[in-house]
Amino acid sequence: MTMGEPSKILLDESEMPRRWYNIVADLPAAPPPVLHPGTMAPVGPDDLAILFPMELIRQEVTTERYVDIPEDVLDVYRLWRPSPLYRAHRLERALGTPAKIFYKYEGVSPAGSHKPNTAVPQAYYNAAAGIRRLTTETGAGQWGTALAFACAQYGLDCEVWQVRASYDQKPYRKIMIETFGGVVHPSPSELTGAGRAVLGRYPDSPGSLGIAISEAVEMAAGSPDTNYALGSVLNHVLLHQTVIGEEAIAQFGKVGLTPDVIVGCTGGGSNFGGLAFPFLREKLAGRMDVTIRAVEPASCPSLTRGVYAYDFGDTIGRTPLMKMHTLGHDFIPDPIHAGGLRYHGMSPLISHVYELGLIEAVAKGQRECFEAGVRFARTEGIVPAPEPTHALAACIEEALRCKETGEEKVILTALCGHGHLDLAAYGAYLAGELVDHELSETDLHAATSTLPAVPAPSA
Ligand SMILES: *Cc1c(COP(=O)(O)O)cnc(C)c1O
Repeated sequence: MTMGEPSKILLDESEMPRRWYNIVADLPAAPPPVLHPGTMAPVGPDDLAILFPMELIRQEVTTERYVDIPEDVLDVYRLWRPSPLYRAHRLERALGTPAKIFYKYEGVSPAGSHKPNTAVPQAYYNAAAGIRRLTTETGAGQWGTALAFACAQYGLDCEVWQVRASYDQKPYRKIMIETFGGVVHPSPSELTGAGRAVLGRYPDSPGSLGIAISEAVEMAAGSPDTNYALGSVLNHVLLHQTVIGEEAIAQFGKVGLTPDVIVGCTGGGSNFGGLAFPFLREKLAGRMDVTIRAVEPASCPSLTRGVYAYDFGDTIGRTPLMKMHTLGHDFIPDPIHAGGLRYHGMSPLISHVYELGLIEAVAKGQRECFEAGVRFARTEGIVPAPEPTHALAACIEEALRCKETGEEKVILTALCGHGHLDLAAYGAYLAGELVDHELSETDLHAATSTLPAVPAPSA
């Protein structure tokens, strides 16, 4: 390492982005509309108003390029933003690569991940609309933690349906949600019709994100002072996450570099979109030439092996129909440790951008990912959440390719969270107990055979 090449590139609070970026404004084709499951007509604002406040509905459908971040949201963001951009000098040396590796670290937030970037504005807009309580689902617990923190900032109650398997395996997340003032129910639960229906058929159901969403949506739809909040997938969520990419662009500006390759993990697509979309704007405008690559688990490969079709966001079929890469709303992925990546669908916006050929996608098995995570921890000193180990595996793969070709590429990785509450997963990896789950063709076919029939759009 040469002296003067920084390890940590920081921004002042005064340099924080003051608006979110909406990629829809710059895409060569508009994304397909969201459909009402009864009428198959595009949903209107009124269809969504039982779940979301009007300002979030507006952000969901807006084609404006930028949306101003409210002062009250910026105030809370300042607790941890701007987040650091690191140069991974030690990982580079350990790999012997000529590539320059950077990672944008979101683990500095109150929840330890990128999730508060959207939880805070969602709670803010709901409180401003007079809502008293938010319901949501959580898998590994990151989203529930983020929303409980955000609700505490604006005086809202927060009720979380946590996927049963995680509820049992990860008691610390539940305690953290409760510490922030949230209430946690294991899902499926007896509190909702959706939960009771699943328990009736499968009394020992480990749950899934899709089932937990059905429960949280049902509760919100049933009471006027309660709304629902989703931590990924939707356009407004990806919009809020673009603070990550906007900051990263400003940070690269300080060292006079631009990335050649960006890698990020995709569950529902929000941390990846949040980092990548501002760079994609630069690419579409011809100001940057960057390869953008999504990395997903081999056991839940919605982008690389799913079908691009209209599907429900939940299991019971209560949500509007979104056109996305999906494994089918009935799909229950193998219990891999990256809980945040176990969702049957991909964000419609990421799916659309992928169909347009603007991004690439690869799938990785969890052992390769944990190997990358451990390598990263031993060199850079951060234990990554299991989800971004997928991005790190792809980053290391790219850096080793550069070692062969001698290319000095600049690689940017989304390090979207730390793994301090996921140490049991590292324990399993270190004990040699992790297995790779490859989704079989038979299971893939079975899962995608129950997609809802949607008539072709009239010309
Ligand atoms: C929730 C979560 C994910 C997956 O969600 P995306 O919307 O794809 O970002 C990934 N990493 C972490 C740390 C998470 O908490």
